[in-house]
This record gives sequence, C-alpha cells and structure tokens, in this order.
Amino acid sequence: MCFVHDMMPLLHLSVLQHEAGIQRIAGPHFLMSLIHESARATPVCHEADLCVIGGSCTGVFAAVRAARLGLSVALVEQNTLLGGMATAAQVNEWHSVNDTSGTRRIIGGLTLEIVERLRHRGILQEIAPVHRGQFRFNSAELAVELDDLVRTHRIRVFLAARCVAASRVGSRITSAIIEDRSGRRAITAPLFIDASGDGDLLRHAGFVAEKPAVLQPVNLQAIVAGFDALPSLPEWSDLQLLLAAHDYPEANSRPWHFPVPGAPALRNLFGARLNGVDAGDADAYTAALFEGRRLHRAYLDIVRTRAACAPLPVVAWAHALGVRETRHAHCHHRLTGDEILHGRVFADSIAQGTYPVDIHSVGGTVLRYLDGYEERLSRHGTTTRHRWQPDDAPVPACYHIPYRSLLPLEADNLLVAGRLLDADREAFGGVRVMVNMNQTGEAAGVAAALALRASSGFPAVPPATLRAALNTGGSLLLPQSKE
Ligand SMILES: Cc1cc2nc3c(=O)[nH]c(=O)nc-3n(C[C@H](O)[C@H](O)[C@H](O)COP(=O)(O)OP(=O)(O)OC[C@H]3O[C@@H](n4cnc5c(N)ncnc54)[C@H](O)[C@@H]3O)c2cc1C
Repeated sequence: MCFVHDMMPLLHLSVLQHEAGIQRIAGPHFLMSLIHESARATPVCHEADLCVIGGSCTGVFAAVRAARLGLSVALVEQNTLLGGMATAAQVNEWHSVNDTSGTRRIIGGLTLEIVERLRHRGILQEIAPVHRGQFRFNSAELAVELDDLVRTHRIRVFLAARCVAASRVGSRITSAIIEDRSGRRAITAPLFIDASGDGDLLRHAGFVAEKPAVLQPVNLQAIVAGFDALPSLPEWSDLQLLLAAHDYPEANSRPWHFPVPGAPALRNLFGARLNGVDAGDADAYTAALFEGRRLHRAYLDIVRTRAACAPLPVVAWAHALGVRETRHAHCHHRLTGDEILHGRVFADSIAQGTYPVDIHSVGGTVLRYLDGYEERLSRHGTTTRHRWQPDDAPVPACYHIPYRSLLPLEADNLLVAGRLLDADREAFGGVRVMVNMNQTGEAAGVAAALALRASSGFPAVPPATLRAALNTGGSLLLPQSKE
C-alpha cells in the first residue's frame, strides 16, 4: 500500500519576499504567503488525568471507560453534539456484534449498553437475519444518550471546541490547545488519546500521520420526507439514464435510504458517493458539501418526476460530511488485510469483529467476507457472488485488532483510537465500522487507567492486564491461545 507522508514540504522552500510581516515562500508546486503571528501565552483552562480529542462514540467510550476506573477526563469535540459520524453525519447502522457462526456475541461493552438504552427508548430497529447490519438507530436520539453518559460520568466536555495545536517535550505531549467560544485555551494531562479520525492532535504534536494514496469516498446524508407515500422506487436502469442526464458523477452508487427509527414518515437518505475527495483538505471538504446537496436535490427531483408524486423535501441536512478515511497513524503494527481475512490471533488483541473487507471505489463495491465469499456490487446495480477462498478453507470466528495498531511510533503518552488506527487499505476496509472502532476507544480508555496507575507510558501497558481489565468492564474478548 502506498502512503503519502502528510507533512508540509518544508524542504525545497525558498523565501521570495519578506515585507510588512507577510512572507512569500515557493515550493516545487506552489506559491504561499505566510503571516507571522506574534508569540502568545495561552491560559490553561483545565487539568485532567486524561484528555481525549474527538467525541464520537470512540472518544466518548474511551472517556467513559477511563472515568469508570477513576480518572478525571477532558473530552474535546469540534461539533455541537457528541457521536461523530453516527450523529453528525447520520450514519445510523451498527453491524454484527456476533462471530461468524452468528450465535456467539463477541462485542459487548459500551456498544451493548448503548444498544440497550436505545431499545429502552423505542428508537432502535433490529435487523434479522443479521447479514451485515444488526442495529439501526435514531442518530439525534443517540446524541442525547451520549450527553447523558458523559454527564453521569462527570467528564469535562468541551463542545464546539477544536484542537488546533499541541505542546510536546520529547516523546510526551504536555498539552492540547483548543479554540472554542471562549478563545484559545490549553488542557494539560499526563495522558492523551487522539480519537479525532483526522489525527489532529497527533499531527499538531509532530507525530507521523500518513494519508493513503487512494481514500475511501465521502457521502453527505439528508433526512427526507415523502418516501413513505411512494408505491415503489424507479428501476435502477431507468434511474441511471436519468442520473447521467443530470450530471450525476458516473452514478457510481445508487443513493440508498434507511428508516429513521421512531419517525416512520422520514428516511435517512445516503447521497451518492463522491470519490477522490480528500476530506482533510478544507477546500475539498467545502466543495463536497455543495456537491452533496446539489446531487441530493437532483436525485429527489428525478424520483419525483418518475413517480409523478408530491415533492420529496429534504427536512434536515447532516451536520457534517460523511468521511470514511483521511489519515492513519504510523504505529508499532500495521494491520493487514491478510491478517484480518485469516483471523490472525494477536496476544495483544483489544477488539474483534466480523464486518467484511468493504472497499468502495469508482467501479463499485467489493465485499470480502470471512466465510470465504465475496460480493461485487457494480455501479450498474448488479451484484455477483463467488468464493475468494477454496470451499474447504477454515472460517475464522472473527478477526482481531492488536493494541500495537493504536500505539504511535515514538509516542509515550499518546494513543490513537478509531479510524486513525494503523491499517492497510484492505484491513481498514473491514475494521473501520463503528462496532469495531467503539472497542478501540474502550481499549484506549482502559489502557490510560492502567498507565496512570503504574505511572508508566502507553507502550509499557501489559497486554494481558489490559485485556483482563477490558473484560472485567464488559468487553467480550476471546481467550488467546498464547495467554
Ligand atoms: C457514508 C458513510 C457510511 C458509513 N456506513 C457505516 C455503517 O453503516 N456502519 C458503520 O459502522 N460504519 C459506517 N461507516 C464508517 C464509520 O462511520 C466510521 O468509520 C466511524 O464512525 C469512524 O469512527 P471514528 O470515531 O474514528 O471517527 P469519527 O466518527 O469521524 O469521529 C471523529 C470525531 O472527532 C471530531 N474531531 C475531528 N477533529 C477534531 C478536532 N481537531 N478537535 C476536536 N474534535 C475533532 C469529529 O468532529 C468527530 O466527532 C460509514 C461512513 C460513512 C462516511
């Protein structure tokens, strides 16, 4: 796999001008102006045992597991609500929590606690038989459950707060610097977790974040009314012709829609996948939001015309673009596709899952399952299924994510959790889903408690102790033969 180091190309720069505080520099492919800000002292607004950047379920679960073990925790989230992609981008399906036999639970912990909370409120839809997805939920209601969870655990939450810088001494981060409605402030802690997905703390602290040469596509979601009144949707072949006529980008994925549990008149419409978007680039992110909204309207107008029905209005846009991938930390272990597809067992396994390797591209989607089958969903709407393994190949119960894939090289008091973990394209295609990422958050939070107790850094946390503490707190990690 080809990774591109995501650092400003400081080499080969030459200073062209330096006047009135504005510096112009030139590199091989660009001309850039730099403004020199005056040095400033930043007030420390909070001191905690652990500071978590990014408040998706990954970050919240890290914070909660650490708080349950006695740590004082600060949690920083740039959005106005917790939940990350699950709430801000309305990605409202969690996949199977069972092994490949479909009968044994392998994912527990806070994922199941949240499932029970949502079930209790009647805003959870269970999908049976479980193919890939197992639970659909109401994203807006999930955000309130997460509010309740952090408040009852006395976590100091900073919402609408973005981590914009960090201070570091040697291998240790000493503070995360945030900007929020009160200004620019610092949070100090002996331990940090970067659950930002984009690796903002990691990069600001100067650790390596790598950007894959080919990124998984982005989508923009919307809540739409009126679909419940439609007798049926147009055939995909008809739709494709019409989409092409509306400048729809190669119609590489049919927009699909999920129910919104608790609101039967509404649908959660996933817009067309936008390939080739680097969501770590601000201008590309903005352009994708515009394009996502334009394409939603074009699609809804096509369906309306074809079905000769009443308007199908968008009633709410997702708060954030749906981003699958931007960067990966460079860690002690890069998880490979081969390792997950063959269920390689690691002595430091901290998460397990069965979601297939799922890679979206311009040509369509390839889903490679642990049971030896592969599905190819073409952009023309056809699905083919064949075996990628011989018929008699053993089927692993699940795959595993090692702790070392959360442990950035050269960092002593920083872990990454969530989609920032170190995995190649194929492995990431499988492990990136939320039931897996949630577990990486829980593991990071428990590792923080063990590190603090031992006055050690993250690399010194003993894997067997970590795994035992995770299971004591509700995780369902399977015994490893090496233990
Ligand atoms: C369209 C789409 C469909 C998908 N479908 C599914 C599906 O059906 N099921 C499934 O399980 N997975 C699905 N996924 C994948 C899944 O949503 C993600 O892989 C997963 O949510 C990643 O979790 P995360 O916590 O690592 O990152 P995120 O959910 O992206 O969370 C990162 C959090 O960090 C915050 N943050 C970022 N930078 C900063 C900063 N500098 N300061 C403070 N906060 C910051 C963000 O606002 C966000 O809340 C889908 C993804 C997309 C985009």
